[in-house]
Amino acid sequence: MQRPNSANPEKPKQADVVIVGNGALGLFLAEELIERKAGSIVVVGPDDRDAGASKAAGAMLGCFGEVTADSLKTHASRTRFEIGLRAHERWPDVLSRLEPYSKTGSPLQTAAESHVVLNAIGAELDTINFEAMIKALDEYGKPWSEIDPKEIPGFKPRTDARSLRSIHVPGEGAVDARGVLAALEARLDEIGATRVDAIVRRLIKDGEAVTGVELADGHVIEAGTVVVATGASSENLVRTAAEDLELIPMIAGLGFAMLAKRTGGEPFRSVVRTPNRGFACGLHVVPAGNGREYLGATNRLVDDISSVTWVGDARYLAQYAMQQLDEQIARHEVVSWLSGNRPVTFDGFPMIGWLPLDGLYLMTGTYRDGFHCAPLLASHVANELQGQPGLIDSMFNPVRRPIQVRTVEESIEEYVVHSLAAWFETGAEAAPQMTTTQLAAYYRTRGREAFEHFGTDYAFGPDVLWYAEGSLVGGRRIARYLNRLRGNASALASVAGAAGAAR
Ligand SMILES: Cc1cc2nc3c(=O)[nH]c(=O)nc-3n(C[C@H](O)[C@H](O)[C@H](O)COP(=O)(O)OP(=O)(O)OC[C@H]3O[C@@H](n4cnc5c(N)ncnc54)[C@H](O)[C@@H]3O)c2cc1C
Repeated sequence: MQRPNSANPEKPKQADVVIVGNGALGLFLAEELIERKAGSIVVVGPDDRDAGASKAAGAMLGCFGEVTADSLKTHASRTRFEIGLRAHERWPDVLSRLEPYSKTGSPLQTAAESHVVLNAIGAELDTINFEAMIKALDEYGKPWSEIDPKEIPGFKPRTDARSLRSIHVPGEGAVDARGVLAALEARLDEIGATRVDAIVRRLIKDGEAVTGVELADGHVIEAGTVVVATGASSENLVRTAAEDLELIPMIAGLGFAMLAKRTGGEPFRSVVRTPNRGFACGLHVVPAGNGREYLGATNRLVDDISSVTWVGDARYLAQYAMQQLDEQIARHEVVSWLSGNRPVTFDGFPMIGWLPLDGLYLMTGTYRDGFHCAPLLASHVANELQGQPGLIDSMFNPVRRPIQVRTVEESIEEYVVHSLAAWFETGAEAAPQMTTTQLAAYYRTRGREAFEHFGTDYAFGPDVLWYAEGSLVGGRRIARYLNRLRGNASALASVAGAAGAAR
């Protein structure tokens, strides 16, 4: 047990690698490095993981369940999708390693399969993404079958929210995120990592190198390498050492979920979810062990990282779950209100790689499926730290131009279908005041005006467009970034090349 605690209050002064951030990415990386005997490893992060995403995660181990119409459309999106596919193969080993350290009283794997339901509560987007999912399953030769929604254990929606189609996807289950994090910590303590319950205030820079971190209480830990894995706050922390670095902006994707005890009715035995929709990851229920069920999850891109929950989000999630999943959920007893910030990047892709300051590595931007991808990303990063070839494409290097996967017109249309999905799911009506076509035209105009305002041909994802046109702070931030990008086009390309070549 290497942990500074009341009996042993000494915090370490030096380490070969300091990992800042104790979410899934930081902890899996620490485990991987210790296993490889990569020297002394220190993980710094607050025990309560305030505002972190991992502690709020489902944590569905979903590849095809996450597929949208965009997932396989471009080389970059397909490459991103395949990170999830490859990560999936690692989980049986992860679970057998961690199970002996678990104290949850039930298996860490809480579900072994998914059912995806298609109802008519959202909008056309559900159908589009549902069909994209089936096409992807076929393309990758993965098993799935159509199933009568009435046969899905636990699935008893209100009659007007019933599903008319559903598919069974074997092998896409879920784990108990909080149980996995606790087991990882127990294992890290045993195998020799040092965990420090603290916040890093700033990175310490010496010339063009990062040489350590300073904690909020002023304590300094010197390090050969610093890995920043602080989720949505990663950009802010990197900027303490490199204010002018051309990083892709990060935005916090505030999410809310509930962990609740079932008091009656038939429990869910699999993940049951809708496709991704309405700027979010779809409505889902995940068996959570010990008679509990996880209900998730909302997603809104926000200006500031915090662990608040919007009252509207609490209302939507409760209402959608009771209507669309199981009416009995009205009697569930909430045992934890979970909120966390997904690390969202401006272009929606991860940011993983060395930064142009020696000794500084960034590992973030995993958005919706970072828990699932963490074991693979940990191996990739450990390889890179040890000077070996990485496991994922270098296009996700943090110093890059934003990856472009759609045209402006496509971006506007995506924004329209997501807005309609959110509109109808919240129970708003179009007719009789206006038709759905008129409503779509209204959102299309808003989308077009936003692009005119920003004067850019970089086509945002629908969630970023929603944020950019809906938040003054967000809009200004993105406008500043786009201006810098216009001015820096060639400089940026050469920085990215240099960072890649230097390692
Ligand atoms: C509601 C919700 C549901 C989700 N569901 C799923 C799912 O079903 N499947 C899936 O795969 N993914 C899911 N995700 C996404 C997933 O949780 C993230 O992609 C992933 O957990 C990110 O992990 P991370 O370690 O990079 O960041 P985080 O989990 O955010 O961890 C960062 C840690 O760094 C700490 N920290 C911050 N600043 C500092 C500092 N200055 N010094 C020290 N420590 C600091 C934070 O307290 C936090 O503990 C979900 C996310 C949310 C919010």
